[in-house]
Amino acid sequence: MPQSSSSDNKELVRARATVGDFELTVCTDGTYLLDGGAMFGVVPKTLWQKRIAPNPDNEILLGLNSAVVRTGKQTVVIETGIGNQQTPKMREIFENQELLLKSYAAAGVDPDEVDIVINTHLHFDHCGWNTTLHTDGSVTPTFRNARYFAHAGEVAHGHLQLERDRVSYLSPNYDPLIASGQMTLLDASFFAAGGTGVGATAAICPGISVELFPGHTAQMMGVHIESGSEHACYIGDLLPTAHHLEPTWVMGYDLDPLRSIEERKRFYARAIPEQWLVLFPHDHDTPMARVVLNEKGKPVVVK
Ligand SMILES: [Zn+2]
Repeated sequence: MPQSSSSDNKELVRARATVGDFELTVCTDGTYLLDGGAMFGVVPKTLWQKRIAPNPDNEILLGLNSAVVRTGKQTVVIETGIGNQQTPKMREIFENQELLLKSYAAAGVDPDEVDIVINTHLHFDHCGWNTTLHTDGSVTPTFRNARYFAHAGEVAHGHLQLERDRVSYLSPNYDPLIASGQMTLLDASFFAAGGTGVGATAAICPGISVELFPGHTAQMMGVHIESGSEHACYIGDLLPTAHHLEPTWVMGYDLDPLRSIEERKRFYARAIPEQWLVLFPHDHDTPMARVVLNEKGKPVVVK
């Protein structure tokens, strides 16, 4: 096999940082296309297109960011992209490239070293490489030595196959892992003080915890990464890209957009003064950034 050039590696490894003693790397499953209007909900196109230009089909290019955290004791993966189990029709629509395993290789991450996989929610573009489809038709866990974590409510919602969002939930991404016992389903009993209420968190391993940020889905979780005095947060689809920082610029996909707006404010109340490093799931160009308030009091990324 030809060696990939350093410029390829740069494309495949989207960002690196340290968080206290932890190493943080953002890998990618490549890009995909979604309707710009759906991504910005009720925001007029005349406004959002100034920040991100659509193609002639009104689609915008989005990333599929998978964060890898090495804590020194554990290797933790947050989100696993779209994966390789799409139908040809879906590949045609999304134009995704299935790059995640190449991206891990470019970053020096061996899927067998991964101890923990966390899905913020179970939409197909967040958990696709949880499992791998092989040429003989078999499906196996991509991270064979890992324990997977997802919220029980997400699985229950996916199984309902509601008209509104059934296309987003593809059970091969999680049902085989649940059946084999490799996926832990987080329910109220895992969440400390407050159960599943506002601010409820659950520890996954030292330095890594999840917190409910409902709105996009009822049980969507953000992932806190904390070491020393530093704090990063993979915020899931509460903030899909750095173009979505305006509190009211929530996605048309969100099941409860009013809640998303409130949860964003709750997030900013800590993330901005405490200078958290914020990881955006679908921003290919700005996978992570610190957020500040500009002179108008609007949240913006630090360039
Ligand atoms: Zn989603």
